[in-house]
Amino acid sequence: MRTSALGRETGPNTRRRTLLRGAALLPLYGIAACTPTARPQRTGSPRLVVIGGGYGGATAARYAALWGGDSIDGTLVERDAAFVSCPLSNLVLAGSKSIADVTVSYSSLARRGVRVIQDTAVSVDAQRRRVVLARGPALSYDRLILSPGIDFFFDRVNGLASEGARAALPHAWQAGAQTVALRRQIEAMPDGGVFAISIPRAPYRCPPGPYERACQVAWYFQRAKPRSKVLILDGNEDVQSKKALFVKAWNEEFTGIIEYRPDHVLTDVDAATLTARFETADDVKADVLNVIPPHGAGAIARTAGVVTVNDQWCEVDFLTFESVKAPRIHVLGDSIQVAPLMPKSGHMANQQGKVVAAAVLAMLADQSVNPAPVLNNTCYSFINDREAVHIASVHRYDDAQKTFLTVPGAGGVSLAKSAREGDYGFAWARSIWADMLS
Ligand SMILES: Cc1cc2nc3c(=O)[nH]c(=O)nc-3n(C[C@H](O)[C@H](O)[C@H](O)COP(=O)(O)OP(=O)(O)OC[C@H]3O[C@@H](n4cnc5c(N)ncnc54)[C@H](O)[C@@H]3O)c2cc1C
Repeated sequence: MRTSALGRETGPNTRRRTLLRGAALLPLYGIAACTPTARPQRTGSPRLVVIGGGYGGATAARYAALWGGDSIDGTLVERDAAFVSCPLSNLVLAGSKSIADVTVSYSSLARRGVRVIQDTAVSVDAQRRRVVLARGPALSYDRLILSPGIDFFFDRVNGLASEGARAALPHAWQAGAQTVALRRQIEAMPDGGVFAISIPRAPYRCPPGPYERACQVAWYFQRAKPRSKVLILDGNEDVQSKKALFVKAWNEEFTGIIEYRPDHVLTDVDAATLTARFETADDVKADVLNVIPPHGAGAIARTAGVVTVNDQWCEVDFLTFESVKAPRIHVLGDSIQVAPLMPKSGHMANQQGKVVAAAVLAMLADQSVNPAPVLNNTCYSFINDREAVHIASVHRYDDAQKTFLTVPGAGGVSLAKSAREGDYGFAWARSIWADMLS
Protein backbone atom coordinates (compact mmCIF):
# COMPACT_ATOMS: atom_id res chain seq x y z
CA MET A 1 0.00 0.00 0.00
CA ARG A 2 1.19 3.52 -0.74
CA THR A 3 0.07 6.26 1.50
CA SER A 4 0.93 9.86 2.18
CA ALA A 5 2.17 10.86 5.58
CA LEU A 6 -1.37 10.65 6.80
CA GLY A 7 -2.28 7.75 4.61
CA ARG A 8 -4.68 10.19 2.96
CA GLU A 9 -4.26 9.59 -0.77
CA THR A 10 -4.58 5.87 -0.78
CA GLY A 11 -6.80 4.22 1.72
CA PRO A 12 -5.56 0.71 2.13
CA ASN A 13 -8.06 -0.76 -0.22
CA THR A 14 -9.48 0.90 -3.32
CA ARG A 15 -12.51 -1.34 -3.19
CA ARG A 16 -13.33 0.05 0.22
CA ARG A 17 -13.36 3.60 -0.97
CA THR A 18 -16.51 2.96 -2.93
CA LEU A 19 -18.29 3.57 0.34
CA LEU A 20 -17.10 7.13 0.39
CA ARG A 21 -19.19 7.75 -2.66
CA GLY A 22 -21.94 5.35 -1.77
CA ALA A 23 -24.24 6.96 0.72
CA ALA A 24 -26.66 4.19 -0.08
CA LEU A 25 -24.27 1.75 1.50
CA LEU A 26 -24.18 3.56 4.80
CA PRO A 27 -27.03 1.51 6.21
CA LEU A 28 -24.70 -1.48 6.01
CA TYR A 29 -22.95 0.11 8.95
CA GLY A 30 -26.25 1.03 10.42
CA ILE A 31 -27.16 4.51 11.51
CA ALA A 32 -25.19 4.05 14.61
CA ALA A 33 -26.81 4.71 17.94
CA CYS A 34 -25.08 6.45 20.83
CA THR A 35 -26.58 3.95 23.22
CA PRO A 36 -25.64 0.54 24.54
CA THR A 37 -28.48 -0.86 22.46
CA ALA A 38 -26.69 -0.07 19.19
CA ARG A 39 -27.02 -2.73 16.51
CA PRO A 40 -24.88 -5.78 17.31
CA GLN A 41 -21.58 -6.49 15.60
CA ARG A 42 -21.80 -8.12 12.19
CA THR A 43 -20.32 -11.47 11.43
CA GLY A 44 -18.20 -11.96 8.34
CA SER A 45 -16.32 -8.67 8.11
CA PRO A 46 -13.22 -8.13 10.24
CA ARG A 47 -14.21 -6.40 13.47
CA LEU A 48 -12.45 -3.26 14.58
CA VAL A 49 -13.17 -1.94 18.06
CA VAL A 50 -11.90 1.48 19.16
CA ILE A 51 -11.97 2.42 22.84
CA GLY A 52 -12.01 6.14 23.58
CA GLY A 53 -13.71 8.81 21.48
CA GLY A 54 -11.23 11.61 22.15
CA TYR A 55 -8.68 13.18 19.81
CA GLY A 56 -7.02 9.88 18.92
CA GLY A 57 -9.86 7.36 19.04
CA ALA A 58 -12.56 9.38 17.29
CA THR A 59 -10.11 10.14 14.47
CA ALA A 60 -9.07 6.50 14.13
CA ALA A 61 -12.69 5.30 14.11
CA ARG A 62 -13.79 7.95 11.63
CA TYR A 63 -10.93 7.35 9.20
CA ALA A 64 -11.23 3.57 9.45
CA ALA A 65 -14.89 3.93 8.44
CA LEU A 66 -14.03 6.44 5.73
CA TRP A 67 -11.31 4.31 4.18
CA GLY A 68 -12.58 0.87 5.14
CA GLY A 69 -16.20 1.21 4.12
CA ASP A 70 -18.20 -1.98 4.44
CA SER A 71 -15.15 -4.20 4.38
CA ILE A 72 -14.77 -3.74 8.13
CA ASP A 73 -17.19 -3.72 11.02
CA GLY A 74 -16.18 -0.75 13.16
CA THR A 75 -17.33 0.18 16.65
CA LEU A 76 -16.30 3.10 18.86
CA VAL A 77 -16.83 2.75 22.60
CA GLU A 78 -16.92 6.05 24.50
CA ARG A 79 -18.08 6.49 28.07
CA ASP A 80 -19.19 10.13 27.72
CA ALA A 81 -22.30 11.32 25.91
CA ALA A 82 -20.45 14.10 24.08
CA PHE A 83 -16.87 15.05 23.26
CA VAL A 84 -15.49 17.82 25.48
CA SER A 85 -12.20 19.32 24.30
CA CYS A 86 -9.27 19.96 26.60
CA PRO A 87 -7.80 22.40 24.04
CA LEU A 88 -9.55 25.75 24.70
CA SER A 89 -10.86 24.51 28.07
CA ASN A 90 -8.47 26.86 29.88
CA LEU A 91 -10.49 29.70 28.34
CA VAL A 92 -13.54 28.25 30.06
CA LEU A 93 -11.72 28.67 33.37
CA ALA A 94 -11.18 32.33 32.49
CA GLY A 95 -14.81 32.80 31.47
CA SER A 96 -14.20 33.97 27.89
CA LYS A 97 -15.56 30.63 26.60
CA SER A 98 -18.27 28.38 27.98
CA ILE A 99 -18.17 24.61 28.37
CA ALA A 100 -20.74 24.44 25.53
CA ASP A 101 -18.18 26.16 23.26
CA VAL A 102 -15.80 23.19 23.67
CA THR A 103 -18.41 20.42 23.50
CA VAL A 104 -19.21 18.52 20.29
CA SER A 105 -21.85 15.84 19.75
CA TYR A 106 -20.99 12.36 18.50
CA SER A 107 -24.10 12.29 16.31
CA SER A 108 -22.33 13.25 13.06
CA LEU A 109 -19.70 10.60 13.59
CA ALA A 110 -22.47 8.06 14.01
CA ARG A 111 -24.02 9.23 10.74
CA ARG A 112 -20.63 8.70 9.04
CA GLY A 113 -20.98 4.99 9.54
CA VAL A 114 -19.21 4.55 12.85
CA ARG A 115 -21.22 2.56 15.36
CA VAL A 116 -20.84 4.64 18.52
CA ILE A 117 -21.63 2.88 21.75
CA GLN A 118 -21.86 5.01 24.87
CA ASP A 119 -20.50 2.67 27.50
CA THR A 120 -17.38 2.09 29.58
CA ALA A 121 -14.94 -0.62 28.57
CA VAL A 122 -14.06 -2.33 31.84
CA SER A 123 -11.61 -4.98 30.67
CA VAL A 124 -9.88 -6.43 27.64
CA ASP A 125 -9.26 -10.14 27.24
CA ALA A 126 -6.35 -10.11 24.80
CA GLN A 127 -6.34 -13.92 24.48
CA ARG A 128 -9.98 -14.22 23.53
CA ARG A 129 -10.00 -10.83 21.77
CA ARG A 130 -12.96 -9.52 23.68
CA VAL A 131 -13.80 -6.22 25.30
CA VAL A 132 -16.10 -6.34 28.32
CA LEU A 133 -18.39 -3.35 28.71
CA ALA A 134 -19.98 -2.03 31.90
CA ARG A 135 -23.52 -2.25 30.57
CA GLY A 136 -23.77 -3.70 27.08
CA PRO A 137 -22.77 -7.08 25.66
CA ALA A 138 -19.07 -7.86 25.23
CA LEU A 139 -17.49 -6.96 21.89
CA SER A 140 -15.24 -9.26 19.89
CA TYR A 141 -12.47 -7.82 17.77
CA ASP A 142 -9.94 -8.75 15.13
CA ARG A 143 -8.04 -5.53 15.83
CA LEU A 144 -8.47 -3.28 18.86
CA ILE A 145 -7.44 0.38 19.02
CA LEU A 146 -6.99 1.92 22.47
CA SER A 147 -7.00 5.69 22.82
CA PRO A 148 -8.22 6.11 26.40
CA GLY A 149 -6.19 9.21 27.19
CA ILE A 150 -4.94 9.39 30.77
CA ASP A 151 -5.88 8.27 34.26
CA PHE A 152 -4.43 9.69 37.45
CA PHE A 153 -2.23 8.21 40.17
CA PHE A 154 -4.09 9.85 43.06
CA ASP A 155 -2.27 7.58 45.49
CA ARG A 156 1.12 9.07 44.56
CA VAL A 157 0.29 12.32 46.38
CA ASN A 158 -0.47 11.87 50.08
CA GLY A 159 -3.88 13.23 50.97
CA LEU A 160 -5.29 13.12 47.45
CA ALA A 161 -6.78 9.64 47.34
CA SER A 162 -10.09 10.27 49.15
CA GLU A 163 -13.25 11.28 47.28
CA GLY A 164 -13.46 14.41 49.41
CA ALA A 165 -9.95 15.55 48.57
CA ARG A 166 -10.48 14.97 44.90
CA ALA A 167 -13.70 16.97 44.97
CA ALA A 168 -11.97 19.82 46.81
CA LEU A 169 -9.06 19.89 44.37
CA PRO A 170 -10.40 19.49 40.82
CA HIS A 171 -7.57 18.88 38.35
CA ALA A 172 -9.53 19.91 35.23
CA TRP A 173 -6.96 17.93 33.23
CA GLN A 174 -9.83 16.02 31.63
CA ALA A 175 -12.28 18.59 30.34
CA GLY A 176 -15.94 18.54 31.34
CA ALA A 177 -17.35 18.46 34.86
CA GLN A 178 -13.86 19.04 36.27
CA THR A 179 -13.47 22.23 34.23
CA VAL A 180 -16.82 23.55 35.43
CA ALA A 181 -15.97 22.72 39.05
CA LEU A 182 -12.63 24.54 38.87
CA ARG A 183 -14.21 27.55 37.17
CA ARG A 184 -16.71 27.78 40.06
CA GLN A 185 -13.88 27.75 42.60
CA ILE A 186 -12.02 30.48 40.73
CA GLU A 187 -15.16 32.61 40.56
CA ALA A 188 -15.87 32.10 44.26
CA MET A 189 -12.32 32.96 45.31
CA PRO A 190 -11.99 36.23 47.24
CA ASP A 191 -10.11 39.13 45.65
CA GLY A 192 -6.60 39.08 47.06
CA GLY A 193 -6.56 35.28 47.10
CA VAL A 194 -4.03 32.84 45.63
CA PHE A 195 -4.67 30.35 42.81
CA ALA A 196 -1.88 27.76 42.83
CA ILE A 197 -1.34 25.21 40.07
CA SER A 198 0.84 22.16 40.68
CA ILE A 199 2.46 20.57 37.61
CA PRO A 200 3.64 16.94 37.71
CA ARG A 201 6.99 15.79 36.43
CA ALA A 202 7.23 15.44 32.63
CA PRO A 203 6.14 13.64 30.56
CA TYR A 204 2.58 14.79 31.20
CA ARG A 205 -0.47 15.59 29.05
CA CYS A 206 0.02 18.84 27.09
CA PRO A 207 3.39 20.36 28.04
CA PRO A 208 2.31 24.03 27.58
CA GLY A 209 -1.18 23.53 29.06
CA PRO A 210 -0.42 24.49 32.69
CA TYR A 211 1.37 27.69 31.66
CA GLU A 212 -1.53 28.63 29.38
CA ARG A 213 -3.85 28.00 32.33
CA ALA A 214 -1.82 30.35 34.51
CA CYS A 215 -2.19 33.10 31.86
CA GLN A 216 -5.92 32.51 31.54
CA VAL A 217 -6.57 32.66 35.28
CA ALA A 218 -4.39 35.79 35.54
CA TRP A 219 -6.34 37.39 32.69
CA TYR A 220 -9.55 36.74 34.61
CA PHE A 221 -8.05 38.10 37.83
CA GLN A 222 -7.03 41.34 36.07
CA ARG A 223 -10.69 41.94 35.29
CA ALA A 224 -12.51 40.47 38.27
CA LYS A 225 -10.10 40.16 41.22
CA PRO A 226 -7.13 42.45 40.55
CA ARG A 227 -5.42 41.90 43.90
CA SER A 228 -5.21 38.12 43.39
CA LYS A 229 -2.15 36.03 42.49
CA VAL A 230 -1.33 32.96 40.40
CA LEU A 231 1.44 30.68 41.67
CA ILE A 232 2.91 28.11 39.28
CA LEU A 233 4.41 25.25 41.29
CA ASP A 234 6.33 23.25 38.72
CA GLY A 235 7.51 19.72 39.49
CA ASN A 236 10.10 20.23 36.77
CA GLU A 237 13.29 22.23 36.81
CA ASP A 238 12.09 24.68 34.17
CA VAL A 239 9.20 25.71 31.94
CA GLN A 240 8.52 22.77 29.63
CA SER A 241 7.27 24.51 26.48
CA LYS A 242 7.27 27.96 24.77
CA LYS A 243 9.36 29.24 27.66
CA ALA A 244 10.41 32.62 26.28
CA LEU A 245 6.86 33.46 25.19
CA PHE A 246 5.29 32.52 28.49
CA VAL A 247 7.94 34.26 30.60
CA LYS A 248 7.49 37.42 28.54
CA ALA A 249 3.73 37.32 29.13
CA TRP A 250 4.17 36.73 32.86
CA ASN A 251 6.64 39.61 33.14
CA GLU A 252 4.93 42.10 30.89
CA GLU A 253 1.22 41.33 30.63
CA PHE A 254 0.69 39.82 34.07
CA THR A 255 3.31 41.74 36.04
CA GLY A 256 2.98 41.07 39.75
CA ILE A 257 0.20 38.53 39.24
CA ILE A 258 1.98 35.35 38.08
CA GLU A 259 4.90 33.89 39.99
CA TYR A 260 6.79 30.86 38.68
CA ARG A 261 8.51 28.45 41.08
CA PRO A 262 10.46 25.49 39.60
CA ASP A 263 11.51 22.27 41.37
CA HIS A 264 8.26 21.93 43.31
CA VAL A 265 7.70 18.18 43.33
CA LEU A 266 4.42 17.70 45.16
CA THR A 267 4.34 15.05 47.89
CA ASP A 268 1.31 15.89 50.07
CA VAL A 269 -1.86 17.93 50.02
CA ASP A 270 -4.18 18.88 52.84
CA ALA A 271 -7.56 19.38 51.22
CA ALA A 272 -9.05 20.90 54.38
CA THR A 273 -6.55 23.76 54.54
CA LEU A 274 -5.67 23.80 50.81
CA THR A 275 -2.02 23.33 51.62
CA ALA A 276 0.56 21.73 49.32
CA ARG A 277 3.82 20.16 50.49
CA PHE A 278 6.86 19.40 48.36
CA GLU A 279 9.99 17.26 48.31
CA THR A 280 12.29 20.18 49.06
CA ALA A 281 10.44 23.53 48.83
CA ASP A 282 8.38 25.36 51.47
CA ASP A 283 4.70 24.56 51.95
CA VAL A 284 2.19 26.63 49.98
CA LYS A 285 -1.29 27.51 51.18
CA ALA A 286 -3.74 28.62 48.49
CA ASP A 287 -7.34 29.73 48.14
CA VAL A 288 -7.76 27.55 45.05
CA LEU A 289 -5.35 24.63 44.79
CA ASN A 290 -5.29 23.14 41.31
CA VAL A 291 -3.30 19.92 41.49
CA ILE A 292 -2.61 18.13 38.22
CA PRO A 293 -1.83 14.69 39.65
CA PRO A 294 0.83 12.43 38.16
CA HIS A 295 -0.81 10.38 35.44
CA GLY A 296 -0.31 7.58 32.95
CA ALA A 297 -2.11 5.61 30.26
CA GLY A 298 -5.88 5.27 30.61
CA ALA A 299 -6.81 2.48 33.00
CA ILE A 300 -8.25 0.20 30.33
CA ALA A 301 -4.75 -0.16 28.86
CA ARG A 302 -3.73 -1.81 32.12
CA THR A 303 -6.36 -4.52 31.86
CA ALA A 304 -5.25 -5.15 28.30
CA GLY A 305 -1.69 -5.72 29.55
CA VAL A 306 -0.14 -3.09 27.28
CA VAL A 307 1.34 -0.74 29.92
CA THR A 308 5.08 -1.37 29.73
CA VAL A 309 7.07 1.68 30.89
CA ASN A 310 7.29 2.58 34.60
CA ASP A 311 3.82 1.15 35.11
CA GLN A 312 2.77 4.33 33.29
CA TRP A 313 2.92 4.36 29.49
CA CYS A 314 2.49 1.89 26.59
CA GLU A 315 5.30 1.13 24.15
CA VAL A 316 4.24 0.65 20.55
CA ASP A 317 5.73 -0.27 17.20
CA PHE A 318 5.71 3.21 15.69
CA LEU A 319 4.93 1.99 12.17
CA THR A 320 1.56 0.60 13.18
CA PHE A 321 1.14 1.71 16.82
CA GLU A 322 0.63 -1.96 17.65
CA SER A 323 1.53 -2.71 21.26
CA VAL A 324 4.96 -4.29 21.73
CA LYS A 325 3.31 -6.53 24.30
CA ALA A 326 -0.05 -7.62 22.89
CA PRO A 327 -0.57 -8.44 19.23
CA ARG A 328 -3.65 -6.97 17.53
CA ILE A 329 -3.95 -4.20 20.11
CA HIS A 330 -2.93 -0.75 18.89
CA VAL A 331 -2.44 2.16 21.29
CA LEU A 332 -2.22 5.86 20.48
CA GLY A 333 -2.56 9.32 21.92
CA ASP A 334 -1.56 10.32 25.41
CA SER A 335 -1.36 6.69 26.59
CA ILE A 336 1.80 5.87 24.67
CA GLN A 337 5.47 6.17 25.55
CA VAL A 338 6.23 8.95 23.13
CA ALA A 339 9.08 9.19 20.64
CA PRO A 340 11.78 11.83 21.31
CA LEU A 341 10.31 15.36 21.40
CA MET A 342 6.85 14.07 20.53
CA PRO A 343 4.28 15.98 22.63
CA LYS A 344 1.25 14.44 24.26
CA SER A 345 -1.21 16.63 22.40
CA GLY A 346 -4.59 16.46 20.75
CA HIS A 347 -3.11 17.37 17.38
CA MET A 348 -0.57 14.56 17.69
CA ALA A 349 -3.27 12.06 18.73
CA ASN A 350 -5.33 13.08 15.70
CA GLN A 351 -2.37 12.51 13.41
CA GLN A 352 -1.60 9.17 14.99
CA GLY A 353 -5.27 8.20 14.59
CA LYS A 354 -4.95 8.41 10.82
CA VAL A 355 -1.71 6.41 10.71
CA VAL A 356 -3.27 3.74 12.91
CA ALA A 357 -6.49 3.60 10.86
CA ALA A 358 -4.50 3.09 7.65
CA ALA A 359 -2.19 0.52 9.26
CA VAL A 360 -5.02 -1.48 10.78
CA LEU A 361 -6.97 -1.60 7.53
CA ALA A 362 -3.84 -2.71 5.67
CA MET A 363 -3.10 -5.42 8.22
CA LEU A 364 -6.68 -6.68 8.14
CA ALA A 365 -6.40 -6.91 4.35
CA ASP A 366 -2.97 -8.59 4.49
CA GLN A 367 -1.39 -5.63 2.77
CA SER A 368 1.85 -3.91 3.67
CA VAL A 369 1.68 -0.78 5.79
CA ASN A 370 3.05 2.64 4.94
CA PRO A 371 6.80 2.30 5.66
CA ALA A 372 7.42 6.02 6.16
CA PRO A 373 4.68 7.80 8.12
CA VAL A 374 5.09 11.48 8.96
CA LEU A 375 3.24 13.31 11.72
CA ASN A 376 2.98 17.00 12.44
CA ASN A 377 1.92 18.97 15.47
CA THR A 378 0.81 22.53 16.08
CA CYS A 379 -0.15 23.61 19.53
CA TYR A 380 -1.67 27.04 20.21
CA SER A 381 -1.61 28.57 23.69
CA PHE A 382 -3.85 31.49 24.49
CA ILE A 383 -2.24 34.25 26.50
CA ASN A 384 -5.53 36.12 26.95
CA ASP A 385 -9.02 35.87 25.45
CA ARG A 386 -7.93 36.54 21.86
CA GLU A 387 -4.12 36.48 21.49
CA ALA A 388 -2.16 33.26 21.16
CA VAL A 389 1.26 31.77 20.42
CA HIS A 390 2.09 28.45 18.81
CA ILE A 391 4.72 25.74 18.62
CA ALA A 392 4.95 23.41 15.62
CA SER A 393 7.00 20.33 14.76
CA VAL A 394 7.22 17.59 12.15
CA HIS A 395 8.05 14.00 13.11
CA ARG A 396 9.24 11.43 10.53
CA TYR A 397 9.53 7.69 11.07
CA ASP A 398 13.16 6.62 11.08
CA ASP A 399 13.55 3.04 9.92
CA ALA A 400 17.02 2.61 11.41
CA GLN A 401 15.97 3.74 14.88
CA LYS A 402 12.39 2.43 14.65
CA THR A 403 10.98 5.61 16.09
CA PHE A 404 9.80 9.06 15.03
CA LEU A 405 12.45 11.77 14.90
CA THR A 406 11.83 15.47 14.44
CA VAL A 407 12.63 16.82 10.99
CA PRO A 408 15.41 19.40 11.29
CA GLY A 409 14.38 22.87 10.18
CA ALA A 410 10.67 22.06 10.19
CA GLY A 411 8.41 23.71 12.72
CA GLY A 412 9.28 26.42 15.23
CA VAL A 413 7.63 28.81 17.65
CA SER A 414 5.91 32.18 17.34
CA LEU A 415 7.99 35.31 17.60
CA ALA A 416 5.31 36.99 19.66
CA LYS A 417 1.68 36.61 20.69
CA SER A 418 -0.88 38.06 18.31
CA ALA A 419 -4.59 38.24 17.66
CA ARG A 420 -3.98 36.70 14.26
CA GLU A 421 -2.53 33.62 15.95
CA GLY A 422 -5.55 33.66 18.22
CA ASP A 423 -7.78 33.48 15.14
CA TYR A 424 -5.65 30.62 13.83
CA GLY A 425 -5.99 28.88 17.18
CA PHE A 426 -9.78 29.07 17.15
CA ALA A 427 -9.79 27.93 13.50
CA TRP A 428 -7.50 25.03 14.43
CA ALA A 429 -10.03 23.86 17.01
CA ARG A 430 -12.98 24.09 14.62
CA SER A 431 -11.05 22.22 11.90
CA ILE A 432 -9.79 19.41 14.06
CA TRP A 433 -13.18 18.84 15.67
CA ALA A 434 -14.71 18.65 12.18
CA ASP A 435 -11.94 16.29 11.07
CA MET A 436 -12.58 13.95 13.99
CA LEU A 437 -16.27 14.18 14.52
CA SER A 438 -18.21 15.43 11.52
C1 LIG B 1 -5.98 22.15 29.69
C2 LIG B 1 -5.49 21.42 28.47
C3 LIG B 1 -5.24 22.10 27.30
C4 LIG B 1 -4.79 21.43 26.17
N1 LIG B 1 -4.54 22.14 25.03
C5 LIG B 1 -4.14 21.51 23.93
C6 LIG B 1 -3.94 22.23 22.71
O1 LIG B 1 -4.11 23.46 22.66
N2 LIG B 1 -3.58 21.53 21.61
C7 LIG B 1 -3.40 20.18 21.63
O2 LIG B 1 -3.09 19.60 20.58
N3 LIG B 1 -3.56 19.47 22.77
C8 LIG B 1 -3.93 20.09 23.92
N4 LIG B 1 -4.15 19.38 25.07
C9 LIG B 1 -3.83 17.93 25.10
C10 LIG B 1 -4.95 17.06 24.53
O3 LIG B 1 -6.16 17.31 25.20
C11 LIG B 1 -4.60 15.58 24.69
O4 LIG B 1 -3.28 15.37 24.27
C12 LIG B 1 -5.55 14.72 23.86
O5 LIG B 1 -6.86 14.85 24.41
C13 LIG B 1 -5.10 13.27 23.80
O6 LIG B 1 -5.98 12.52 23.02
P1 LIG B 1 -6.36 11.03 23.47
O7 LIG B 1 -7.23 10.48 22.41
O8 LIG B 1 -5.13 10.31 23.87
O9 LIG B 1 -7.20 11.23 24.82
P2 LIG B 1 -8.58 11.97 25.04
O10 LIG B 1 -8.79 13.02 24.05
O11 LIG B 1 -8.63 12.33 26.48
O12 LIG B 1 -9.66 10.86 24.77
C14 LIG B 1 -9.80 9.74 25.59
C15 LIG B 1 -11.25 9.31 25.55
O13 LIG B 1 -11.36 7.96 26.00
C16 LIG B 1 -12.51 7.85 26.81
N5 LIG B 1 -12.29 6.68 27.65
C17 LIG B 1 -11.24 6.47 28.48
N6 LIG B 1 -11.34 5.26 29.04
C18 LIG B 1 -12.47 4.69 28.54
C19 LIG B 1 -13.10 3.44 28.75
N7 LIG B 1 -12.59 2.53 29.59
N8 LIG B 1 -14.25 3.18 28.10
C20 LIG B 1 -14.79 4.10 27.25
N9 LIG B 1 -14.23 5.32 27.02
C21 LIG B 1 -13.08 5.60 27.66
C22 LIG B 1 -12.60 9.18 27.53
O14 LIG B 1 -13.91 9.44 27.98
C23 LIG B 1 -12.14 10.15 26.44
O15 LIG B 1 -13.22 10.64 25.69
C24 LIG B 1 -4.61 20.02 26.21
C25 LIG B 1 -4.87 19.33 27.40
C26 LIG B 1 -5.30 20.01 28.52
C27 LIG B 1 -5.60 19.24 29.77
